[in-house]
Amino acid sequence: MRATLEQGLPALGMGLELIEPLEAFSRMLLEKNQVMNLTAITEPRDVAALHLLDSLAGVAGLEAGTVVDVGTGAGFPGVPLAIARPSVRVTLLDSLGKRVDFLRESCRELGLENVECVHGRAEEFAGERRERFDLAVSRAVAALPMLCELCLPLVKVGGAFWAMKSVDTEEEISASKAAIKLLGGHIQTVSDYTIPTTEVVHRVVRIQKIGPTPKKYPRRFALIKKQPL
Ligand code: SAM
Repeated sequence: MRATLEQGLPALGMGLELIEPLEAFSRMLLEKNQVMNLTAITEPRDVAALHLLDSLAGVAGLEAGTVVDVGTGAGFPGVPLAIARPSVRVTLLDSLGKRVDFLRESCRELGLENVECVHGRAEEFAGERRERFDLAVSRAVAALPMLCELCLPLVKVGGAFWAMKSVDTEEEISASKAAIKLLGGHIQTVSDYTIPTTEVVHRVVRIQKIGPTPKKYPRRFALIKKQPL
């Protein structure tokens, strides 16, 4: 793990002082993974590349502001982001209580003061924190048309939603254009990046919030799923 981070962090313009907290988080993740389902990636070198460096590469360029990580799961990309950028305030949101308990405990042990852990569903959280965040991020949660309805209502006008995706998402992106427009968004860029130390190429779809999301969105999850916009 250490060698992968030593090579990968400088490639992202990040310092080696991050190795210690990133390794500490990975240890907690792999230990807890023995008793609950947090990740299918269990080789430390792969955790470093496919979780930590991928997360950091996906949110590269972000320096400050408020961020909600929708469907954070075991904390990706939100925890590496919070470790690397203390001036970013990160809300980790997930609908699975046990995962949120793990994150709460880990963030306390890591002394991360810029993190809030929330157990809840994105479509319900929008009732509480509508248009409050500078940025929503999400990795590996749902297809883009559904994901936009979960994420864009949480973002301020003038903010953005970054969806971390695989590269085989041309159709998904095309299929989401009407939804994005309806929800007050506009696709700004679709950028592919290679995860440092690997040959794996992933994609970030950056969507700007250019107007308010109509009050009727997000709908109930059953409807979002049954009739994606
Ligand atoms: N983002 C993490 C990653 O990349 O490793 C986790 C991905 S995991 C496949 C998807 C996570 O999204 C799960 O932990 C699930 O509980 C959460 N999730 C799915 N739908 C959600 C919703 N509507 N609101 C909040 N969390 C949700």
